[in-house]
Amino acid sequence: MTNCDVLVIGAGPAGTLAAAILKDKGWDVRILEKQKFPRFVIGESLLPRCMDHLREAGLLDAVEAKNFQKKIGARFVKNGAICDFNFSEQFTEGSTWTWQVPRAEFDMTLAKAVADKGVPVDFECSVEDIEFGKSHQITTYTDASGNSQTLHSRFIVDGSGYGRVIPKILKLDKPSTFPPRAAIFAHVKFDARTEESRRIDIVTITDRMWAWIIPFSDGRTSVGFVGELDCFNGMGTSPEEKFQHCIGMNDYVSKKLGSIEFTMEPKEISAYSISVEKFYGEGFVLTGNSTEFLDPVFSSGVTFAMESGVTAAKLIDRQLKGETVNWEEDYVKYIQKGVDTFRSYVKGWYDGSLPAIFFAETALPAFKEQICSVLAGYVWDDTNPFVKKHNRILTTLSKVVSIIDEDK
Ligand code: FAD
Repeated sequence: MTNCDVLVIGAGPAGTLAAAILKDKGWDVRILEKQKFPRFVIGESLLPRCMDHLREAGLLDAVEAKNFQKKIGARFVKNGAICDFNFSEQFTEGSTWTWQVPRAEFDMTLAKAVADKGVPVDFECSVEDIEFGKSHQITTYTDASGNSQTLHSRFIVDGSGYGRVIPKILKLDKPSTFPPRAAIFAHVKFDARTEESRRIDIVTITDRMWAWIIPFSDGRTSVGFVGELDCFNGMGTSPEEKFQHCIGMNDYVSKKLGSIEFTMEPKEISAYSISVEKFYGEGFVLTGNSTEFLDPVFSSGVTFAMESGVTAAKLIDRQLKGETVNWEEDYVKYIQKGVDTFRSYVKGWYDGSLPAIFFAETALPAFKEQICSVLAGYVWDDTNPFVKKHNRILTTLSKVVSIIDEDK
């Protein structure tokens, strides 16, 4: 039996950032991670907002030392037209760049940097069950030798991502409001170390399908195709057949990548969007993907994982010191606000209102800077009308630009 103040489940971005902040505040923290690192996970394009979190958690230098591919913007491509967002031209004051990262190396870097701070990170330890109490949690896990162990802690951070440990134990899963979609993706050899590779490409394939191209700094590039489940019907049975079929559907993608040489075989995942009934309870908090995952289109997943990990850690610190914490106001409402903003943009992407704005003939520089800040992850800045009025503004603006374009 071991004890600690805070047990963190999972060594992804949510878990490691929470652990780093708590350790810096003097708490005895421990991470249990199910897999052996380095391990693959999808989610390779970060947003500039992540830089603020990495800095606050004292992990920025460790990541900087890895020379990951710098990302300075996002480029949307449709039928030969390009809408380029440069993070240096944005409304909100914040970071103007970030990275595109192979997650195996990125997450390994975070886990090592957290271990260097003195947090024990135990790999191949899978949390199986938790007995929740008011101020005392008893966690049962299987260790690397296959033995069952127990760990006592005052608080638990669930950063288990797609593992969704606490939502499964407490049956908190709630279906997403979005239709189920699938993604087919791979890593390919594509040496794109040019100015162009400093952005993610988001390419419209059909009205219901899009692709990402995310170059890394080591000559590999991540390529993925996303669409509703039936979009991939008739493309073959294996992920590779489907992937090759998708490549052939779009000139921009096929010309850019040329002949395909895989460095990671194509994989397929589906129905990944999910939500939860509640974000916290007595002695625990859910962070990152164990709360809600919307959609990959705006690369918001890791940003939310970090935002929630950092925010939760600061509230846990206050609670363990004996302060009363208003979790509903300071955690749920705060995180939900960012999620809801991105939800409007994801909805706008799929209902066509956002592409209508991106590819309008009429240039809208001021609006573009405000939208750029949302794409950079600054979705809590209420001085930005594209944050404050996120639920109406895209539909309204898309109608206005189409009227102006028609008049031309
Ligand atoms: P994870 O990174 O999943 O880490 C959770 C960790 O918990 C894992 O290491 C896991 O092994 C461990 N764990 C699980 N169960 C247990 C257990 N029982 N015991 C102990 N440990 C456990 N996001 C972006 O920001 N940019 C993108 O470009 C992007 N692209 C995406 C594309 C697709 C198709 C999808 C589906 C998602 C994408 N995402 C992207 C989202 C991104 O994958 C996640 O939001 C992000 O990885 C969440 O981080 P996390 O720390 O919550 O969880």
